[in-house]
Amino acid sequence: MKILTEQEIRSAFVNCTKGEATRLHVPRDLAERPWEDLDFLGWRDPQAPDRGYLATELDGRTVAVALRSSGAAAWQARRSICSLCVTTHTGGVSLLVAPRAGKAGKQGNSVGAYICSDLACSLYVRGKREVGTRLHESLTVEEKIRRTEANLAAFVARVTA
Ligand SMILES: [Zn+2]
Repeated sequence: MKILTEQEIRSAFVNCTKGEATRLHVPRDLAERPWEDLDFLGWRDPQAPDRGYLATELDGRTVAVALRSSGAAAWQARRSICSLCVTTHTGGVSLLVAPRAGKAGKQGNSVGAYICSDLACSLYVRGKREVGTRLHESLTVEEKIRRTEANLAAFVARVTA
């Protein structure tokens, strides 16, 4: 994806208030991120570990989504599969919940998905970050990238619906 600036990211949030988007944690090392290997930029807030964020481009538009980890920890030790990149981890997948955009979100509606806890799906798909166990799949990297993009687009569509 193309390099995003902090300002582009902050103004792209679809499911939090302008004030929240101004204050939330955006990584300071944006220039050093491996953008050419990213389908989306995902990050956690080091000061608030239950908060995560992702930013991507959909139909030529930058979209950013604020996420929260659900408190459930018991199942995290189990082997689980990321719903975006379909990587299997033991203890490395979190249930992340996104408030829905607009009125639905204000009424408390949210959508959840099991996603790699470090939000580094793009790197797992490309074999640039390793996991302990990897399901054998006959897909090429290119096919896995397309699947991740499609899963991400579907997730964002549920948030903004
Ligand atoms: Zn993933």
